[in-house]
Amino acid sequence: MKLRYQFRLYPSTRQRIELAKAFGCARVVWNDALRIRQDAYKQGEPLPSVVALAKQVITEAKKTPEREWLGEVSAVLLRSSLRDLQTAYSNFFASLKGTRKGPKLEPPKFKRKTSRQAVRFTRAARFSITKEGNLRLPKIGDVEVRWSRELPSDPSSVTVIKDAAGRYFCSFVVEAEDKPLPELDLEETDTGIDLGLSSYAVLRGRKVASPKFFRRQEKKLRRAQRKLSRCQKGSNNRRKAKLVVAKEHARIADQRRDFIDQETTRIVRESQAVYLEDLAVKGMAKTHGKSVHDQSLGMFARTLEAKCARYGRTFVKVSRWFPSTQLCSRCGSIEGPKGLEGLKIRAWTCSCGAHHDRDENAEINIRREGRTLVAEGRPDT
Ligand SMILES: [Zn+2]
Repeated sequence: MKLRYQFRLYPSTRQRIELAKAFGCARVVWNDALRIRQDAYKQGEPLPSVVALAKQVITEAKKTPEREWLGEVSAVLLRSSLRDLQTAYSNFFASLKGTRKGPKLEPPKFKRKTSRQAVRFTRAARFSITKEGNLRLPKIGDVEVRWSRELPSDPSSVTVIKDAAGRYFCSFVVEAEDKPLPELDLEETDTGIDLGLSSYAVLRGRKVASPKFFRRQEKKLRRAQRKLSRCQKGSNNRRKAKLVVAKEHARIADQRRDFIDQETTRIVRESQAVYLEDLAVKGMAKTHGKSVHDQSLGMFARTLEAKCARYGRTFVKVSRWFPSTQLCSRCGSIEGPKGLEGLKIRAWTCSCGAHHDRDENAEINIRREGRTLVAEGRPDT
């Protein structure tokens, strides 16, 4: 299984200049190749091969005065930029055909100087980690890294990133072995997960509260965006306001990732099986807009699924059409709160006399449905 490990980088001023060159060259090669592919497509010509593209946008281009400076950075970098474009295209085509999981992808786009910048160094580009713990990059030097955890094995490549907030990161791809956790008693520890509104998630016997920072950060972000919209185009203030917005976005992304990492790790440690109610369950996005909370749910589900696979836990999605909230977990009649109005109801009493906390009742139902799906051997619904 391939895993990504990301750390903060602290390049010196000189290294920043060198990195800027590398970003620029990789971007130009990407854009040149993309333009050639697009033109070929428009004119109905066959798409050029990677080798032909490399010759045209790297080898031949270096000989022209307009692209001479491509020679200043490692050629391996330029080739991996082309390969990344190739990968972006294959992913896009696979997504079109429906052979790729996940959301629909857009075709590759032209890269702009102002957005996130990235270059990838493969083993062939001879990057290494020095004894002192710096990241050694060809033509750039030894860059200081803040290691927050250990790499499980030698990385096969490293991507150096400068985000829109001006921070630098290195992101390693490493091959990691699956390491199953000790098996727990299934009946005792399996859990349904109801992704809620009042709580972030409702689990068997406990609730994960929605982190306060979601709302707080959202306010800050909105304020920054309002300020940006009032700034005049092309002005200095606008540039500054843009950076503030980017920084807020970056901070939100960091906190969201930390929160999700922490919560999913705990769930995987505690539970032998998790049954997750499929998302978009209660029309959340429609009623509330894409809040930070909503955006985090997809990531939560993906992270949890990946961790379950890695640590030997069962992961099952329960259909969003399953009436987890309306079903009485004691007698099985469907008379609980329905629809959008039902979202406001926190507790209800069934005609059988059972008194339910809405969310806890939903968890029990999801857990039961999950167990049934596993027993019937169709965990992929
Ligand atoms: Zn009942």
